[in-house]
Amino acid sequence: MIESIFNKMLSCKDFIFRLRFKATDDIAKLRQFAGCCRFVWNKALALQKQRLDEGKFCLSYAQMTPLLVKWKKKYPFLKEVPSQSLQQCLKDLDRAIRDALDKSSPKKFPVFKKKFRSKESFRYPQGFKVENRRIFLPKYGWSRFFKSREIEGTPKNVTVSLRGDHWYISIQTEMDIPAPVHSSKSAVGCDFGTVRLVTMSDGSYKMPINAYKERSTELANAQRKLARMVKGSRNRQKQLRSIRNIHIQISAKRLDHLQKITHELSKNHALVALENLNVKDMTKSAGGTKDAPGGNVRQKSDLNRAILDQGWGTFKCLLEYKERWRGGLAVFVNPAYTSQECSVCGHVSSENRPSQKLFYCQRCGHTSNADENAAKVVLSRVGHTPNACELNGAVMPSEAGTYRVPS
Ligand SMILES: [Zn+2]
Repeated sequence: MIESIFNKMLSCKDFIFRLRFKATDDIAKLRQFAGCCRFVWNKALALQKQRLDEGKFCLSYAQMTPLLVKWKKKYPFLKEVPSQSLQQCLKDLDRAIRDALDKSSPKKFPVFKKKFRSKESFRYPQGFKVENRRIFLPKYGWSRFFKSREIEGTPKNVTVSLRGDHWYISIQTEMDIPAPVHSSKSAVGCDFGTVRLVTMSDGSYKMPINAYKERSTELANAQRKLARMVKGSRNRQKQLRSIRNIHIQISAKRLDHLQKITHELSKNHALVALENLNVKDMTKSAGGTKDAPGGNVRQKSDLNRAILDQGWGTFKCLLEYKERWRGGLAVFVNPAYTSQECSVCGHVSSENRPSQKLFYCQRCGHTSNADENAAKVVLSRVGHTPNACELNGAVMPSEAGTYRVPS
């Protein structure tokens, strides 16, 4: 019995498809649903904020639901929207506030949703039906979608959202799958950079695509054009839409690039070691604060933009779940001094880096590409990382480049 629990794992996966409409389809209804969910979110959030300002406790989800009944009486248009979606909205808000007030790892406090600015979306926790190439959405009806892949597992919920000019559904499924065993036995360390996106300890590397930089002139021109347009005019709306589409294309291109790299890495290596970089802290405003203004503002903000354009944070997330899926492991190690430490003798000195590219150890004379050396240092730190020891019932790094599975 116990064995079967350990040999199986519950996995959740999202399947995203674009909805496919006929001319007769009532797309305005989807907008209306999303708008009402936004309305309920904002109303509930305003109430919670007011309570906090008055020094009271926030209302729990259970205390909020009777309010929803009241609001439905007051605002009859809410009755046309699936109730489950409105309830879900309150649940999401409840979760977001709890996360924000959690002292151990506080997250950002939820904000009001703005029309046209926030993502238009709503979720069905139940009541929907998926059948071949169509989906039934309560209070909306059947809709077809572009089925680009097979859906695996049992659908648990579906989110409908507008991105650019198209509506999408994201079906989240759950299934029990046998715990995977990674087919490879190799381990690799990675070093992030802005010249090379990522350098591996085996000497290979991947270049960035700089999706944002590539289109920055085009974006700046579009923004300038927008600034000259009359507020509220139809042309301005159009221009806003085209700017939004450029941003969508940029992030799609970046994500695609990261997906390919992390796919390859997770396929070829059972253990991938990464620096535990805090991208948020690294890219703090170059201008600094009023009390502590920053120096080198220009260079720093250029670097910030370059770092954010790489999508290191996304890289970490993608790699982590891909490794988990394959039965491998992504390990995050302490990033301090990885660029100054010698991977052969461990000597740490800023003089070890005569140039940006070159690593030359002052003690043992080890010479190598600086990024490659750093990647090797990252890999060597795996053993000292608590989360690695804890999780590594199955994966124990023995020597650089290999790992063994204890019997
Ligand atoms: Zn050395």
